[in-house]
Amino acid sequence: MSLIVQKFGGSSVADPERIRKVAERVVRTKKSGHQLVVVVSALGDTTDELLHLAAKVSKNPPERELDMLMATGEQVSAALLAMAIKTLGVKAMSFTGPQVGIITDRSHTQARIQEVSAQKIKEVLARGWIAIVTGFQGMTSDHEITTLGRGGSDLTAVALSHALSAKICEIYTDVEGVYTADPRMVPNARKLPTISYDEMLELASTGAQVMQARSMEMAKKYEVPLHIRSSFSASKGTVISKEVKAMEQVVVSGVSLQKDEAKVTICDVPDKPGIAATIFTRISDSEVNVDMIVQNVSRTGYTDVSFTVGRADLNKVLRVARRVAAEIKAGKVIHDGGVAKISVVGLGMRSHSGIAATMFKALARESINIEMISTSEIKISCIIRKDQAVKAVRALHDAFTLDKLGLKPVKEKAVRARK
Ligand code: ASP
Ligand code: MG
Repeated sequence: MSLIVQKFGGSSVADPERIRKVAERVVRTKKSGHQLVVVVSALGDTTDELLHLAAKVSKNPPERELDMLMATGEQVSAALLAMAIKTLGVKAMSFTGPQVGIITDRSHTQARIQEVSAQKIKEVLARGWIAIVTGFQGMTSDHEITTLGRGGSDLTAVALSHALSAKICEIYTDVEGVYTADPRMVPNARKLPTISYDEMLELASTGAQVMQARSMEMAKKYEVPLHIRSSFSASKGTVISKEVKAMEQVVVSGVSLQKDEAKVTICDVPDKPGIAATIFTRISDSEVNVDMIVQNVSRTGYTDVSFTVGRADLNKVLRVARRVAAEIKAGKVIHDGGVAKISVVGLGMRSHSGIAATMFKALARESINIEMISTSEIKISCIIRKDQAVKAVRALHDAFTLDKLGLKPVKEKAVRARK
């Protein structure tokens, strides 16, 4: 009998009524003759509400206690779902991450999974029951509760799918699948029938909200078959898999936007070996993730070093940057919270030239200034003003004719014609 892992998140578990709907759906899957593991997120905005509560009692809550607190959210939805399933006459049992042996490291609120035993899950599945598991949490080897970073229920689902060799990991969400751009910004955005792990990973790490980026890293590493689909309809969503032939014709598959970025510049940095190492070691020691880095050619022996971080980390990184600037005898540190990162992603970039030029021209036509640029094999990102971000997404979606994607293959010629 094949095993399916289903994850329900977002508004699909917003309230008891929706939980009952999920229960019906889960029971249908079970009755179609599958073993079934269901991973749930917390009800609606529970996690945010819990964090809000924490902020009311402490300015700086210990991360261990935040994990104790946040982990309760998923426990509520898991238990409710198990109860709802039982009323439909089907056997189900809920478990926490620690109970099913999801072992993590000790980085509270951002823990990484080290091992999954899934012993209890295997036992209930063998008895023909549905196993419900709380997403987003695990425990350290010495029994401390940890959480897996925001959106971490996706990671739980992917990790269990791998550990149990699931036939498919279905991610049920508010949207119909993965789109060429956020449909709330681009009304003619198209749902992609398939996308590769690499592209989805780039989209997730550049702002597309559908999957937690870390969960995509794991899905890609272990080639976990994923299907992202709507919890409100039966229609097929987006299947994520290794690269397939048809995908190669597509040059760009999506445009994503990260609005919560901030730019920091350390001015007049001495241009000597070891300086960049010092700056970025200090920053990474403070557990801030740096995204883009730009350093100019220096003509005077001094250069400016700019980098971007998530908006939430700005204050923390400014403190570190000022300290390190003094240490290395650099100039002042300036920052800018009014930026956004816009990215185009596509496997076809590996074999097509001119994509960057098309992107820059499309932005230029809209008088959008580019402040920083970074590229990977299958992605180009630009930092622009935040208030021009939506206009930029629409312009790029048009320039790469993404509204036609899937209707007919977007060939290089079609892209050229827009330049
Ligand atoms: N409830 C957690 C969060 O809101 C985990 C999740 O939803 O996947 O981040
Ligand atoms: Mg959530």
